[in-house]
Amino acid sequence: MEFSIRNLMRDTSLPNTEILILLEKVLQKPKTWIIANDLNVISNVLFYKYIDLRNRRIDGEPIAYLVGYKEFMNNKFLVNRSVLIPRPETELLVDVAINSLKPSNGCRVLDLGTGCGAIAISIYLMKSNIEVVGSDIDLYALSVAEMNSRKLCANIDLIHSNWFDCFDSKMGKFDIIVSNPPYIHSLDKHLESGDLRFEPRIALTDELDGLSHISNIIYNARNYMNKGAYLWLEHGWDQSSMVKYLLKMAGFSNVNSFLDLSGIVRVTGGSI
Ligand code: GLN
Repeated sequence: MEFSIRNLMRDTSLPNTEILILLEKVLQKPKTWIIANDLNVISNVLFYKYIDLRNRRIDGEPIAYLVGYKEFMNNKFLVNRSVLIPRPETELLVDVAINSLKPSNGCRVLDLGTGCGAIAISIYLMKSNIEVVGSDIDLYALSVAEMNSRKLCANIDLIHSNWFDCFDSKMGKFDIIVSNPPYIHSLDKHLESGDLRFEPRIALTDELDGLSHISNIIYNARNYMNKGAYLWLEHGWDQSSMVKYLLKMAGFSNVNSFLDLSGIVRVTGGSI
């Protein structure tokens, strides 16, 4: 049996926009070409490739893993199942970090738990004369960050560390530390639904109350911060007052929070 693109587009199990994204991946052609050539018959090999992606999508696998990339801050980042898929709300963390870089200060930035490198690389690309370090506990995640830094020509340093565990004085101090750590409570039912089922659990939850990595970062960060440096953390919808409290207890000043596009307090930080 032979199938044309038009036949595949008639499938009502998936939205047309998703069918087009999957076809773009399989046929390696832009959407405009696919729409303009929808009477083309596709080969058996490509048909079975497409059906595999379609069935996995129907089973809930995130589009980003199926096509192997996700857009973040206007760039395409390679992703696979060893990294969290960059979220639109995390763009706030990048904006807040960039806005707190004072021209008078140096420009050394650290992204803890960098995953695919989306935050570290986006900050690097938005600012000239900047030095960016990304760290991660997971070597597979670091290899994805490495691929993205090459692909996007971002000359960042990547290091293997569980938060600050492998840092020493040779690492020097930073002007901005950012992190989107695993902050979901281990019993949160969202871990069992939607995209999160397919993402690395280690990147989503601390297997405790969601605050343990955040407090670890807050208590150790000052050893690696220059005077006047800022620490910015992404956190869950109900964690801002606790994060503010932890920052104040650790001696941070100018403690402040920012709302994401859905009106949720999503980023909190302060300076030393
Ligand atoms: N923002 C993600 C979510 O709730 C979680 C990311 C994280 O734990 N750092 O889906």
